[in-house]
Amino acid sequence: MSAKYVFVTGGVVSSLGKGIISSSLAKLLQSRGLRVTIQKFDPYLNVDPGTLNPYEHGECFVTEDGAETDLDLGHYERFLNIYTSRANNVTTGKIYRTVIDKERQGAYLGKTVQIIPHITDEIKRRMLLLGKSGQYDVVVTEIGGTVGDIESLPFIEAMRQLQWELPDEDCLVIHLTLVPYLSAAKELKSKPTQHSVKLLQQDGVQPDILICRTEHKLSQELRKKLALFCNVRPNAVIESIDADTIYRVPMMMREEKLDEIVLEKFGLTTAEPDLEAWKGFLDRLGAPKSHVTVALVGKYVELQDAYKSILEAFIHAGAANRCKVKVVPVHSEYLTEDNVEEKLAGMDGILIAPGFGERGLEGKIKAVRYARERKVPFFGICLGMQMAVVEYARNVLGLSDAMTTEVEANTANPVIDLMADQKTTTVKGGTMRLGAYKCQLEEDSLAYRIYGKPLISERHRHRYELNNDYVERLNTAGMRITGCNPETGLAEIVEIPTHPFFIGVQFHPEYKSTPENPQPIFVAFVKASMEYHDKHNHNTEAESAR
Ligand code: GLN
Repeated sequence: MSAKYVFVTGGVVSSLGKGIISSSLAKLLQSRGLRVTIQKFDPYLNVDPGTLNPYEHGECFVTEDGAETDLDLGHYERFLNIYTSRANNVTTGKIYRTVIDKERQGAYLGKTVQIIPHITDEIKRRMLLLGKSGQYDVVVTEIGGTVGDIESLPFIEAMRQLQWELPDEDCLVIHLTLVPYLSAAKELKSKPTQHSVKLLQQDGVQPDILICRTEHKLSQELRKKLALFCNVRPNAVIESIDADTIYRVPMMMREEKLDEIVLEKFGLTTAEPDLEAWKGFLDRLGAPKSHVTVALVGKYVELQDAYKSILEAFIHAGAANRCKVKVVPVHSEYLTEDNVEEKLAGMDGILIAPGFGERGLEGKIKAVRYARERKVPFFGICLGMQMAVVEYARNVLGLSDAMTTEVEANTANPVIDLMADQKTTTVKGGTMRLGAYKCQLEEDSLAYRIYGKPLISERHRHRYELNNDYVERLNTAGMRITGCNPETGLAEIVEIPTHPFFIGVQFHPEYKSTPENPQPIFVAFVKASMEYHDKHNHNTEAESAR
């Protein structure tokens, strides 16, 4: 069977959740036994989002093979419980770079290189790449941006051409729009959707399915009206009402029979969906037996998407522990000696987030000290781990000027320093230590107890590392390196064995957490926070009883 292609476009406004809809449809098709993947085409000119800051783009998601990608790929992996790769995220920058490089090599000698056909041919080649690999029955392609944007036009055009090149039953277009509710008129309005579909039609594309984001239920009458004006069948007008959790959206799409409509168009018959594992997760998520409060200390905490994978990993780990995890954002830039007690009081666990640059660094160090001295469960990720080392070097080893050379190039005590192969690197894009690397665990460590095996693999995104010149001194003073890369000896994990739960990791465990496969350190951290919470509450009760 040749692969089937679903294209997902968006209209009316941005941020409608094309990624969640794409993931939910893919989940339903996967649950019927089909091999499904999802790819995203982003209209911007950056080759990848690796050099964008979270204000521009939210989190940068890293794949196993070391691609810095759009955060929607995180949703694809979490919903499908599969790995994506470099091929799953294409940007205009990548397309142009390929075409211009080919032009320089003489691939188009004598020809004028143009958007049509050269750019659109390269887009089409990439749109079909995963489908042609033979690994998938269905490839869902999410087109970034909103219909009508100048920059996404070549993607829409390539999709239009493919609709004619592929057999009719192999290709399908979904258009996701907003049906706004006007409270003054007490009415849902269909006009923006009509206009949005008209824009798509002007570009030569007729959607097969309309998915309407809405705050209120769509009446049959409104569905009929949308079908009539937008040229789709009434049963292909799908309601997507706001959900309490994104993980419920596959169930909602199932109720709307989205999967059946897609299969019908593709002429496919499959088994009924098996969503037992997913339902089990939703049941655990919806019926917590306890609750904890953890601090997320970072400099982008006011942005909802900056630490997306960490927040999702807490949801998975919470469900695994039957515990509601309340994540309290603590802005590292405003964390000082004077307010650290007040800001972190009542926290059952403290997570220090990854990051780059100087802003908020001292605040992170203060938070580490608080967690270490008060014996609050501590979890440092990447820069968070590096700051745990800086804090220990300063306050336990007495090296008061200990610092990372990322912000203080000439410090006398560079406990965190640039990796050797980074010292000659000047290009910024895609040159960090990226993707999956192995890590060997010490057998009598917290990490080993958490993972239950000696060799693990996690994803990375960093240029700096723990300086091995300090390992012995740290060790003697009580901070152990319990995980190392077996090939390079790079320190990957630090722990303080005398602390109830203190772990810092150079890698990013959050990227691999999924509802059906929650990440073990997050699960253990939530459990440690629950224990801290119980003990703490018990103490308070005991104290007040006295
Ligand atoms: N800035 C640090 C480095 O490059 C940490 C990176 C991170 O937290 N992802 O090593």
